[in-house]
Amino acid sequence: MDTNASVEALRLVARQPITLDSFMEIEARCQKLVDRVRAALLAPTARKTAPTFGTAQMMAIQGLDAKQVDYRAKKGGLPGGSVPSSSRRVFSLADVRGWSQALRKNRLRPEGAEAVVLAIENFKGGVSKTTTAITLAQGLSMRGHNVLVIDADPQGSATTLLGFIPDVEITMEETVLPLCRGDQESIEYAIRTTYWDGIDLVPATADLHAAEFELPARQMNARNFKFWEVLHNGIDNARIKYDVIIIDTPPSLSYLAINALMAADGLIMPLPPSALDFLSSSQFWGIISSMAETMKKHGARKEFDFVDVLLSKVDPDDTATPIVRDWIAAAYGEKVVPVEIPLTATAGSASAEFGTVYDQPRKRATQAYDRLVEYVEDQIGTAWARQLSDAKSTAGVAA
Ligand code: ADP
Ligand code: MG
Repeated sequence: MDTNASVEALRLVARQPITLDSFMEIEARCQKLVDRVRAALLAPTARKTAPTFGTAQMMAIQGLDAKQVDYRAKKGGLPGGSVPSSSRRVFSLADVRGWSQALRKNRLRPEGAEAVVLAIENFKGGVSKTTTAITLAQGLSMRGHNVLVIDADPQGSATTLLGFIPDVEITMEETVLPLCRGDQESIEYAIRTTYWDGIDLVPATADLHAAEFELPARQMNARNFKFWEVLHNGIDNARIKYDVIIIDTPPSLSYLAINALMAADGLIMPLPPSALDFLSSSQFWGIISSMAETMKKHGARKEFDFVDVLLSKVDPDDTATPIVRDWIAAAYGEKVVPVEIPLTATAGSASAEFGTVYDQPRKRATQAYDRLVEYVEDQIGTAWARQLSDAKSTAGVAA
C-alpha cells in the first residue's frame, strides 16, 4: 500500500463518528482497570494502613534531639515504641500522637475554643489542593490535634487518599449531599473514622455533583434560604468536637466551593509558580469579590482569620520559577506563606499517588511539609486566641 492510500485508510477510520454510547464502553473499560490498579496498590490488605515513624520524625515533631527522644522513650510515662531487630526505635502513629498530646499541651486547642476551619481553594485543578489538605491533616494530627476532613469535591481524591474508593465504597447518602438537599441539618451522619488515627472523614463520590443542582433549586424555592450557609451551619456540632476541620474543594467556581469558603476561618490557596497558574489564580479573587458583593446585599458577612497563598510544586530548575515567584510576591505580599513545597520526584512507584509524603515518611521529603504544618498550626493558635478574646469581650458587654 502506498503512503497516500494508508493515510486515506486512516482518515476513513478517523471519520467514524464517536457516539455517546461508546463513552459507556470506555467508562466500563476504565472502571475495570481502575479496580485492578487500586487492588494492586492496596495489596496485600486492600486497606490502607498508617505508617510507622522513626526517631527523626519524633525529633522533628517534638523539638527534641535524638538523645532526649531515646531517654524519654526508655524512662516510661510516654509510649516507648518498639525496637525491632534492626535496633532502630519505631513509633506507631498512636505513639507519636500520645507524645504530642503530653508534650505539646500549649499548642493544643484551649478550653472554650472551637475548631478552626480551613478551606483549601483554587479554581484550577492539579495545583495540589488535595495533597495540601491531606498532608496538613496528617501533620496536624501527628502534632496531637483531632482533624475532620470534609471532601467537597465530587472527584473524591481526598476520600481516595484517606483509603476509601469513592464510587465503590461510598454512596451519595454518605456525603455532604443530604445536607445540601436539606434532608440533614448537621454533618454528623456522614462522619467516619479512617486508617489514620486522628483524622475523620466526610467522604465524597461522583454523585455529589447533584449538589450543584440541589443548592440553586432550594435557593429558588425557599425565600429565606441562603445557599452559602449550608456547610457553615452544618458543621456547628463538629466545631465543638474537632480541633481543626479541613475542607477540600473542587477545581471550579461551584456552589460547594462557595460553601467551603463561607464556612472557613482560614483560606489556603496552593499555587504553583507557573505563569498560567498565576493568571488563573488572579481570576479567583475577582470572581470571589464580585460574588461577595451580591451576597452582601443578602446579608452575608464574612471574615477570615488568615488567607494564605502557598507556593506548591515549586521546580527550582524551571527558569520561569524565580520570575513568577516575584509576580506572586508582588500581587499577594504578606499572604504568601514563607514555606515553599518543592516539586518532588515521584517517590519511585505509582503507589505514591495513593498516599502522601507522610504515608512513607522519610526525613528529606517531609521537611517542607513539616514547616508548612507548623506555620499553619501557629495561625490556628492565633485564631483560637482571637476566639477566646472575642468571647471575653462579648461576655464583658453582656455583664
Ligand atoms: P488538586 O487537588 O489541586 O487537583 P492534587 O493534590 O490532586 O491537586 O495534585 C495533582 C497532582 O500533582 C497529583 O498527581 C499529585 O500527586 C501531584 N503533586 C501534588 N503535589 C506535588 C508535589 N509537591 N510534587 C510533585 N507532585 C505533586
Ligand atoms: Mg483535588
